[in-house]
Amino acid sequence: MRFDTKVVRAAIEPDPTTGAIVPPIYQTATYVLPEVGVDKGFDYTRSSNPTRQLLEENLAAIEGGKHGVCYSSGMATVDSVMRLLKAGDHVVSSDDVYGGVSRLFNEVLSRSGLNFTFVDTSHPGLVKDAIRPETKMLWVETPTNPLLKVTDIEAMAAIARDAGIPLGVDSTFATPALLRPLELGADIVVHSTTKYLSGHNQLIGGIAITNNDEIAERFRFFQRAIGAVPSPTDCWLTLLGIKTLSLRMARHSATGLRVATYLEEHPKVQRVTYPGLKSHPGHEVARRQMSAFSGMISFELEGGISAGKQLLNSLRLCRLAESLGAVETMITHPATMTHVCVPREERLARGLTDGLVRLSVGIEDAEDILEDLESALEQID
Ligand SMILES: *Cc1c(COP(=O)(O)O)cnc(C)c1O
Repeated sequence: MRFDTKVVRAAIEPDPTTGAIVPPIYQTATYVLPEVGVDKGFDYTRSSNPTRQLLEENLAAIEGGKHGVCYSSGMATVDSVMRLLKAGDHVVSSDDVYGGVSRLFNEVLSRSGLNFTFVDTSHPGLVKDAIRPETKMLWVETPTNPLLKVTDIEAMAAIARDAGIPLGVDSTFATPALLRPLELGADIVVHSTTKYLSGHNQLIGGIAITNNDEIAERFRFFQRAIGAVPSPTDCWLTLLGIKTLSLRMARHSATGLRVATYLEEHPKVQRVTYPGLKSHPGHEVARRQMSAFSGMISFELEGGISAGKQLLNSLRLCRLAESLGAVETMITHPATMTHVCVPREERLARGLTDGLVRLSVGIEDAEDILEDLESALEQID
């Protein structure tokens, strides 16, 4: 099967009892045994569920991996990956990781004895220098949130291989429609299925995918032992969303490039960051490893916080909301929203300036999105 076919069909067969083309939702906690010591492959939904299993098989096939293990959120997924490690182990991680991930690393896992070094992984030399004898994982997000830094996965895989450690990639912003890290040498791929994979702002979920049997066995154990599992209905809704993944990512990417190009020429916009623009420092790497550039854009307004507030309060179509990767266009202002708790000095040091705005371009008509931005930009004095 080719990619666009896999998205719709991988692992999905007609329901054996009725022929239903859409698999049913097995919304059950437990399964009746026909006799002592015999089961039909399922015993309790924390351990296994037919709807969840379909999602795991479908997403693993789409990502080009052998095993998929679903969790109740993207955060629970990242937590599970880090449970491969033990106290005293060290992780080299991308510096501009999703806010929830840096909170998990710095405020939760560091208290259980894991140590983290954050580097700009778009520079392989910095990554190499940060590896120590006790480094047990290389963790990369690409493109990153919200600065859309791009990391060369093949270069990271070579460094991880030399060090004898696994490379984990949070590929939420790209999705397997645009980037397949396992094919480039990564050992583990993680997604928040909350975003583009489910795609319609309808649920919270996550998945880890790997070709490594031993790692997959550990993930299955964590899934069962910790119990951060998604509901069967959420798995079913995710499967439904995935069917249009290729179409949606093509549209997100086409509109993303149009909007980024428009913003780059606007006099009230100081700087636009979008991996699809030639001005992006990671453009060449992105072009090499991605088939398109997704719908995430960040841009910098002349006029800082007050300009940001004026813009966001003037938009009518674009939704002021803290998520991304859905059919609706959503916009956030990190300085007053997602990163309001980060001290201003630290924010600025990380490149999260007062005028920075992050846009998740949806699949509405591009003209409507552009008109909305145009009239809101006009409102800024
Ligand atoms: C949203 C997100 C997460 C966390 O996922 P949740 O489903 O919200 O728990 C992790 N990484 C990235 C890149 C994300 O965008």
